[in-house]
Amino acid sequence: MPYQFTFDLSKAPHLFFAEIARVSYQKGMHKTLLNTLQDIIKNCRIQEATGLNIADAVVLLQDFIDLQAVNLMERRKFMKAEKRALLLPHCSRKYMDNRCQAQFDASLPSYTCAHCSEDCLVNKADHLAKKKGYDVYVVPGGSCISKILKSNQYEGVVGVACGEEVKLGVDTLSNMNVAVQTVPLIKNGCANTAFNIETLANTL
Ligand code: SF4
Ligand code: SF4
Repeated sequence: MPYQFTFDLSKAPHLFFAEIARVSYQKGMHKTLLNTLQDIIKNCRIQEATGLNIADAVVLLQDFIDLQAVNLMERRKFMKAEKRALLLPHCSRKYMDNRCQAQFDASLPSYTCAHCSEDCLVNKADHLAKKKGYDVYVVPGGSCISKILKSNQYEGVVGVACGEEVKLGVDTLSNMNVAVQTVPLIKNGCANTAFNIETLANTL
C-alpha cells in the first residue's frame, strides 16, 4: 500500500536521520514520543524541505523509527544468516518503460537488472549486493515476497521499499522466521523513487 501523500527526503539534513537513529534506541521508553517527533520535524525543517504537513510528517517519521527499531532488534540474527537476498522496489529503476532492459520472470514475479544504465539506483544496489553474495530481486510489490521465499530458503532478507510497503514485508518475513533488515525509501511516489545507497551498503 502506498502512502496517501508523496514525500522527498533527499534534501533533508543528515541530522534528521541521526535523530531517527537516536529516538529508535529510546523507543518504548519515551513517554512523550509525539512531542519528540514534532520537535525533530521542526528542528530539521522537514516541512520546509518536503512540503509535508505536520500530520503526514509525523506518520512518516514514526514509520522510519519503527523500521529502525526492527533493524536493531533483528541485526544479530541477520548477521548470522548465511543465505541472503536483497529485494529492491521496481519503482526505483531509472526507467519504468521499455528503456529498462531488465528481464521479467513472471513465475516469481521479479525483474533481474540487465545493467543498461550506470546511474540507475537499482543497478548500483544490484552490484553492491551481488559482490557480497546476495541474490537480488527487483519486485513489483510486497505480495511477491512469499513466492520468492517459498522457492528459496533464505535465512536473511534486506527489503527496500516505502515505509508502509516494507512494514507489510516485515510481517510476512517474520512469520516465515526470516531475519529482516529494512531500508525505507527517502522519496516515494511509485515512480522515480529513491533510497540512500550508503544506508543500503551499510545494511548489507
Ligand atoms: S540498470 Fe537495470 S533496473 Fe535500471 S533501467 Fe537498466 S535494466 Fe532497468
Ligand atoms: S512507492 Fe514503490 S514501494 Fe511504495 S507502494 Fe509505490 S511502487 Fe511500491
